Amino acid sequence: MICANLGSVRAQLASAAHAAHRSVDSITLVAVSKGHGEAAVRAAAALQVRDFGESYLQEALPKLEQLRELPVTWHFIGRIQANKTRPIAEHFHWVHGVDRLKIAERLSAQRPHYAAPLQLCLQVNIAGEASKGGVEPAAASELVQAVSQLPRVQLRGLMGILPAELPSDARREAFAALRTLRDDVGRQCGGLDTLSMGMSDDFADAILEGTTMVRIGSAIFGPRPHTDVG
Ligand SMILES: *Cc1c(COP(=O)(O)O)cnc(C)c1O
Repeated sequence: MICANLGSVRAQLASAAHAAHRSVDSITLVAVSKGHGEAAVRAAAALQVRDFGESYLQEALPKLEQLRELPVTWHFIGRIQANKTRPIAEHFHWVHGVDRLKIAERLSAQRPHYAAPLQLCLQVNIAGEASKGGVEPAAASELVQAVSQLPRVQLRGLMGILPAELPSDARREAFAALRTLRDDVGRQCGGLDTLSMGMSDDFADAILEGTTMVRIGSAIFGPRPHTDVG
């Protein structure tokens, strides 16, 4: 099933990229493996998936440990509690949900010196929904300035999550707004090359609006066996 699903996701990704006159290589597919076990990750990795996303630390840490030998990049995409930053700083390569300076400072301070800088995206509240987290767009510039000064992290871009029920034109507008914000705030800090936006139900629209990382779970792995808890 993973093989067929992944084939279909890659075909949709390629066709959206083509429609947007973009190269497929400009879009990183992050397979969101939360709720799925080690075997699902191995199956996707065998099909050349190189990036995996996890949202829940308790579930992710044993999985990362079991899969330590896989040559893959791990993205933490969930909500981050200030008292749980150390294992994230130690075990992940990317963190997408940073929305407060305090969290970025802790990740920077706790990133081991033997490791490459932790790659960060700041989450922006693009849909005005309090529950999804994220810095308000008007406050993004100040946060970008501060985070880009930190030593053990490298600020790469912005991340956004849209509510599932938005109609397609509203979605595209929200994605386009995040892209414009990324371009604007990027100018203050030497450029931000990453836009993390687009999930199973809306990644084609995100590609049309310039996303560089899509985070896709259920369209690849099927429905999640565990219910989301965060
Ligand atoms: C779960 C999750 C995804 C993947 O969602 P799907 O709808 O299964 O593709 C992407 N991004 C974040 C932040 C998530 O928590």
